[in-house]
Amino acid sequence: MPDFTYTAHPARIVFGSGTLERVADEVGRLGRSRALVLAGEHLHDVADRVEKILGPLAAGRFDGAAMHTPVEVTEQALAVLRETGADCVVAVGGGSTTGLAKALAVRTGVDQVVLPTTYAGSEVTPVLGETAEGVKTTRTDPAILPETVIYDVELSAGLPRPLAVTSAVNALAHAVEALYAPDANPVVDGMALDAVRHLARGLRGLDTDPDARADLLRGAWLAGTCLGAVGMGLHHKLCHTLGGSFGLPHAPTHTVVLPHAMAYNAAAAPEAMRRVAEALGAADAPTAVFDLIVDAGGPTSLRELGLAEADLERAVELAVAKPYPNPAPLTRDGLAGLLRRAWAGERPPGPTMIDGLTAQVVATFAGTEDPRLRALLTDLVPRLHAFAVANDLTQAEWQQGIDFLTRTGQACTDTRQEFVLLSDTLGLSSVVDVLDNSRTPDTTPSAVLGPFYVEGPPELPQGADVSAGLPGTPLYVDVTVTDTEDRPVPDAVVDVWQSNEDGFYDVQLPDLDGPVLRGRLRTDAEGRLRFRSILPSEYPIPDDGPVGAMLRAAGRHPYRAPHLHFMIDAPGHRRLITQLFVRGGKYLDSDAVFGVKEDLIVDFEPRTSPTPDGAAVEGEWRELCYTFRIAGTA
Ligand code: NAD
Repeated sequence: MPDFTYTAHPARIVFGSGTLERVADEVGRLGRSRALVLAGEHLHDVADRVEKILGPLAAGRFDGAAMHTPVEVTEQALAVLRETGADCVVAVGGGSTTGLAKALAVRTGVDQVVLPTTYAGSEVTPVLGETAEGVKTTRTDPAILPETVIYDVELSAGLPRPLAVTSAVNALAHAVEALYAPDANPVVDGMALDAVRHLARGLRGLDTDPDARADLLRGAWLAGTCLGAVGMGLHHKLCHTLGGSFGLPHAPTHTVVLPHAMAYNAAAAPEAMRRVAEALGAADAPTAVFDLIVDAGGPTSLRELGLAEADLERAVELAVAKPYPNPAPLTRDGLAGLLRRAWAGERPPGPTMIDGLTAQVVATFAGTEDPRLRALLTDLVPRLHAFAVANDLTQAEWQQGIDFLTRTGQACTDTRQEFVLLSDTLGLSSVVDVLDNSRTPDTTPSAVLGPFYVEGPPELPQGADVSAGLPGTPLYVDVTVTDTEDRPVPDAVVDVWQSNEDGFYDVQLPDLDGPVLRGRLRTDAEGRLRFRSILPSEYPIPDDGPVGAMLRAAGRHPYRAPHLHFMIDAPGHRRLITQLFVRGGKYLDSDAVFGVKEDLIVDFEPRTSPTPDGAAVEGEWRELCYTFRIAGTA
């Protein structure tokens, strides 16, 4: 399970039918005695009722709440707040009225009791969007979060049907985007899915089910809580742009854009889409949301909301101007297609037959007992399918791939590992090596095992000649193994292996009386190990098999830079598999298996002085001195 962080926002929620009657109790519960009632247009009657129930707690009234919380309106309300000496605000209305309450609270610290009449969800978020001189800016502050929210189903039932539909889809958008948010977590996921279920049931039952409004309000509360807890993606940013720059109405814009934004993200967020589809009881989430909106009578085109076709291009430019986290990368072409379909009111492209097939295959792994295996298989299949789709793979190419892999397997023997070679030449071995082994900067870097390691090499004593007298420039190796505190590691088992002077390993030379140029040695009490060998040379990886054919087809050379292999095992320490490369050797910058790391290129010093073991050597010999630092297992 991935790590997560979850911050709960401390709000009191009162939910039910007729809960409006409890507004005076809730103000009293906060220890407040002078409430300024806030409302917007269309809700004067409800505000009158609130004032009546508050009785002596009502200190005044401000009816001017407006869309997008303009600061000049906030200034007027602030003056009324001061005049009346109110110590709290009671807001009754949609997101616009809640916005005004928040704007007053963040400036003065007054407590807020909010009675939402729409499904916007603002009442449970610590976020405030304000407009000054035509520019809307958003800020987040714990002081913005209302202290108490009274959800009254009867109150929200007054919301006219068209507004109810668009407002509910606005809430649905919070829940959907929460499921693929970068900071998604299991608590929010649970709320989001419950929100999707309640909102869908409410929308479907608007004309027939007496509980539909309760479902919508409950869904709105849950979805709003998701909005306040995690970051939103493409859909919200796009709606923000369309609302801010083209004056499109808030909830209807959300309604039109949501299915298209979901379709845009569907391939990049398959798990979120699968869960939304499941909660909707449908096979495909984006088209199911579109159909839900159509059935509920909601708007489906930006054209009908008043966006001019000529504005589409600027909308795309604005949408790609500032990058933000989103499951699918934001491309100009992709967004242009999305906006054009949303403008024209088209049904978003449904799942292809292949999407369905991929989902079907993935589903067959659901019962895999080992969770890691399940996760790997579940991820591998969509990527393989996507590769085939993206490249429009032909039957002949598929067959060629199968034949290639078959030949790769057939080339494998006890002493030749063509699959490792394939992995090496594709760079995969180095990727896994970096992921698995190279996370401790204070240890010697690791390197790939390579295809020529043979289990159980011959045990050799200190000072042995692993080359068994084979021709080549003599090499004296003097290495020490220490831990990360520079303490020597005695009795470490060190396997070494290398190529001969012509670049061949013993396993490639059937006539050789091997094993040779490989051995298992142990460090002494000082963590030191000395042995004699010959200078390794560059060599081609075996290129007479399918991997060689691949390299030739790609115009790549098969050479490895000259190196010596080491595998170090010591009790209480992590195994280190690495290679030391000969400084100045060939192919250091184009190693066929991408195995060279800068820190592993070392000096194999030329010498002519007497050899360390006194053996007679004609001419130059080389000396390799090196200290390996290995990590403890703890
Ligand atoms: P709104 O509050 O502007 O209401 C839309 C219209 O419906 C208004 O004309 C309003 O008077 C009317 N209305 C509301 N309730 C009614 C009822 N019961 N009966 C009859 N008419 C009613 O719109 P909204 O969609 O609720 O909120 C949108 C605003 O809220 C936007 O400014 C948006 O940015 C903001 N918002 C903020 C957050 C946040 O977390 N900060 C979250 C969601 C929305």
